[in-house]
Amino acid sequence: MGQITLQGVTKRFGEVEVIPPLDLTIEDGEFVVFVGPSGCGKSTLLRLIAGLEDVSAGDILIDGKNATDASPARRGLAMVFQSYALYPHMSVRKNIAFPLKMAGVSKPEQDRRIEAAAKALNLTSYLDRRPGQLSGGQRQRVAIGRAIVREPSAFLFDEPLSNLDAALRVGMRLEISELHNRLKTTMIYVTHDQVEAMTMADKIVVLQAGRIEQVGSPLDLYLRPKNVFVAGFIGSPR
Ligand code: ADP
Ligand code: MG
Repeated sequence: MGQITLQGVTKRFGEVEVIPPLDLTIEDGEFVVFVGPSGCGKSTLLRLIAGLEDVSAGDILIDGKNATDASPARRGLAMVFQSYALYPHMSVRKNIAFPLKMAGVSKPEQDRRIEAAAKALNLTSYLDRRPGQLSGGQRQRVAIGRAIVREPSAFLFDEPLSNLDAALRVGMRLEISELHNRLKTTMIYVTHDQVEAMTMADKIVVLQAGRIEQVGSPLDLYLRPKNVFVAGFIGSPR
């Protein structure tokens, strides 16, 4: 389960309306990419879905249930932050276990989930290391592992690869796509990188100034951009 529906979702910071009323449905199992220039509201939208920000108006439904006022923990979604959000003084195992400990998951169940996630992410032999002893790609996998063990109904990624070098980014992109193929869990992936959007998405949501310019498959947007903004944005990698 991982269907997410936004109905008239609006966000104001003081007087400034950063997200005008917005409607969007993300189907269970979809890989959806939010793409748009810096400052267009991608992170804000993701944080509203995660419950890290309160909506100013509108409703957020998760699997048909109104989750607008639910705490982040109760939404059953997992946000993947950039790898530098790991705890440097804790082992990989403890970093991954942290959200499970907080949620009161039993120790045997914690161990079972950690072993499974480590295996899926090729981290089994690194569980006793600290983040500082890992490569950038391995650290990013730990950040993903910390999300996987929660068995969320959707993963929310906010530019997870932006602090990795170009070569590593290509590899991690493939790994995240592969993970999606395997888990078939809804993923929402925020990026300002058109190549990431075009290569990873089932569905791309193009945003400008908090508004949806167009929603469609990568091929749709490429062949039938609705306007000059979409055409320019998809057509010209920056
Ligand atoms: P993006 O992730 O697409 O770069 P953001 O969602 O971070 O964009 O920001 C969208 C707009 O909202 C920007 O103009 C930003 O300055 C503003 N904004 C974001 N967070 C806050 C905040 N906590 N208070 C005031 N303005 C904010
Ligand atoms: Mg952002």
